[in-house]
Amino acid sequence: MIFDIQRFSTHDGPGVRTVVFFKGCPLSCPWCENPESQSFDAELLYDPALCIGCLDCYRAAADGEVTVSEGRPRFHRERIADPRRYRSVCPSGALTVKGEEATVEAILAEVVKDRPFYGAVGGVTLSGGEPFAQSGLLLSLARALRARSIDLAVETTLHAPWSAIAPALPFISLILADLKSADEARLREATGARLSLVLKNLALLEEARVPTAIRVPVVPGFNDSEGEIRAIIERARRHANVREIHFLPYHTLGMGKFALLGRDYAFPARSSPPAAALEGYAALAAAAGLRAIIGG
Ligand code: SF4
Repeated sequence: MIFDIQRFSTHDGPGVRTVVFFKGCPLSCPWCENPESQSFDAELLYDPALCIGCLDCYRAAADGEVTVSEGRPRFHRERIADPRRYRSVCPSGALTVKGEEATVEAILAEVVKDRPFYGAVGGVTLSGGEPFAQSGLLLSLARALRARSIDLAVETTLHAPWSAIAPALPFISLILADLKSADEARLREATGARLSLVLKNLALLEEARVPTAIRVPVVPGFNDSEGEIRAIIERARRHANVREIHFLPYHTLGMGKFALLGRDYAFPARSSPPAAALEGYAALAAAAGLRAIIGG
């Protein structure tokens, strides 16, 4: 299942890229900028600011899924068996459904439209969510892209069994791997991830000689400190296949999406890390021999 295809990205690997977002993630980062990526199921997003009160959604609803209050719909998501029922009912764009079972052929049909813009280094990036959590779709897509000589990068949490990662590696030119913290307990508590699994996969990528860039979301109140970032850089520089590190500043764009999903945004940070801090982290990485990029 995927939830978006984004065209003309310049922040998800080299050159101009088409990014295919896989739906579903084994982590649950409370600051997630794409919270619609977290669930493995299709989800309904409702924007009351766009609602015109026509109640077409209410008339299309199964019993109890939608009620009406003061002329506006109320969505009871816990009762909605399949949000895809609402995919085409809203005339105003207040309702959107994220998540569709796209075939390899359907994804390719979108991707190839961008091919004239890829140039020598661009291509496709699979992102998420966690692409390796849908290893069958990923592998089929990877093979199909290779058959068309389209470059493939994968953005990943590395929180997946090696058996899901390894088969696709011959078709991948670059792994963009999250390393959010070098502290097992801190990472586990904030995101649910096991650092040991991430580091094991990182070591196996080195053995397999897969070019890998480390991506660090710099999140105030989580890892936005010199000590944390130094520890991450120290981990990254141990691996011969890692030459680059990207510092991705936290921002609050995900907050609005949490609201559209009917979820609370509980993470306390409300501002991005200062530019001077990011530049300092980039300087630390450069001093450690890594090419540092702010913003990916
Ligand atoms: S169909 Fe759309 S515009 Fe009409 S009531 Fe429902 S959410 Fe609002």
